[in-house]
Amino acid sequence: MGGIREVVAVIVAADSATGRVVKAIDELTAHLPPPDEPWACPLCSTESWPCSRFNAAAHQVMTAGLQIRDWIPNDLHARLWGKPKPRSPAPPAPRPQAAPQSETWFDEESPDG
Ligand SMILES: [Zn+2]
Repeated sequence: MGGIREVVAVIVAADSATGRVVKAIDELTAHLPPPDEPWACPLCSTESWPCSRFNAAAHQVMTAGLQIRDWIPNDLHARLWGKPKPRSPAPPAPRPQAAPQSETWFDEESPDG
């Protein structure tokens, strides 16, 4: 069960921000779950996704100043950051988290903060 997420290869300058963290990006991508099983890391059978190795790689990518969001398929954004909020004037009521998710491992940057 479970497909394999399609990947592409790209060549970047080694001394670019991306080039300096290609290993982390490789690692990050290797730990992306397949589209039909977004909780299942293909490499870490004992952890549900996002697994610790994914988190570690994500930290490295972010430390390089890259937008982690740009390296993650859209269908996984909701799993990392929660579902996009519908525009609603009412403030969100505090509610317990449904899933036992690990702590927020990074803050979403607001583009115009
Ligand atoms: Zn993993």
